Amino acid sequence: MINYLYQEQNWQSQLSDLITDPLELLQLLQLSPEQLLSGAILASEQFKLRVPRAFVQKMTPGDPLDPLLLQVLPHHLELEEHPNFVTDPLGEEQANQQLGVLHKYKSRFLLTLTGACAVHCRYCFRRHFPYQENLPKNEDWLNIKNYIESQADINEVIFSGGDPLTLSNRKLKLWIERLELLPQLKFLRIHSRVPIVIPNRVDKELVSLLKNSRLRIIVVVHSNHANELDDFTCAKISELVEQKITVLNQAVLLKDINNSAQILADLSYRLFDAGIMPYYLHVLDKVKGAHHFDLSSEEINLIYKDVLENLPGYLVPKLVREIAGEKNKTPLFGVSTF
Ligand SMILES: *Cc1c(COP(=O)(O)O)cnc(C)c1O
Ligand code: SF4
Repeated sequence: MINYLYQEQNWQSQLSDLITDPLELLQLLQLSPEQLLSGAILASEQFKLRVPRAFVQKMTPGDPLDPLLLQVLPHHLELEEHPNFVTDPLGEEQANQQLGVLHKYKSRFLLTLTGACAVHCRYCFRRHFPYQENLPKNEDWLNIKNYIESQADINEVIFSGGDPLTLSNRKLKLWIERLELLPQLKFLRIHSRVPIVIPNRVDKELVSLLKNSRLRIIVVVHSNHANELDDFTCAKISELVEQKITVLNQAVLLKDINNSAQILADLSYRLFDAGIMPYYLHVLDKVKGAHHFDLSSEEINLIYKDVLENLPGYLVPKLVREIAGEKNKTPLFGVSTF
């Protein structure tokens, strides 16, 4: 790992050379295999380990509690059953109107173009979602178009997944060009963790594709800890910002990873350095296998109050929960006092 120069390797080859073996990951980090308690391998069979080497390089060798490592390393506690932690906590299977379309909110909907992610985050609420059955092909475009045109409220499409930036620029271009043909659409949002885990994904072609679109582009990256944002990563993402593309961040509040006001403040400042605005701080979705990342409401409120006190308002992400069937994300802090 020491001399692995991911900065010089194109993103396609990084994406095809992911680490999928927990033992290899531990070895790269000079950690002993005993780090994986029995059960962890089984957990990794249920939801595969998947992590780019560029992301591993941001972890601290020899630290079994590294906050980036803990987001991706399979854990035996994932196998524990907890009654409130279920496979589809957000009821997404019901919200699925059309192949590839997930329309839960008025003005905007998710278009799922791929089920693949560059990294598997152990806390992900989509770890059980059957994407493979829900991917639109070229011939489905007409149905999607008809759907959009039948919903006059829609002015924004959100590319989601999976992770849309695992797709080739050619494929992204194809879909963007289709959407540009619909006058009712004004905004295109791209939700992706790839710029964080493989910064080279922000290549010249992508930047030019996004900069030249008729649609106003918003990229929402996903970073939970300042260590994910090294100088190289920030420089890459800044290339988008320099083209007047709005870049926002969403994070998930996770036990043992970022459950302190200090860590969250560092994250906000670091994001701001790169020109990224903090957007959402999600509380954990109660998905089966993620219980060990959970925090109590009391803890969350204490942390968030501290965040509010310590950061200027523009660097405070909105604390929200996604509630199945609600028309928007539900803001959490202090709502009961109104
Ligand atoms: C959060 C979310 C959106 C977008 O919501 P915003 O509040 O506009 O960011 C859209 N679709 C799904 C499924 C979501 O979870
Ligand atoms: S959808 Fe996002 S959070 Fe879930 S595994 Fe993929 S990159 Fe991670």
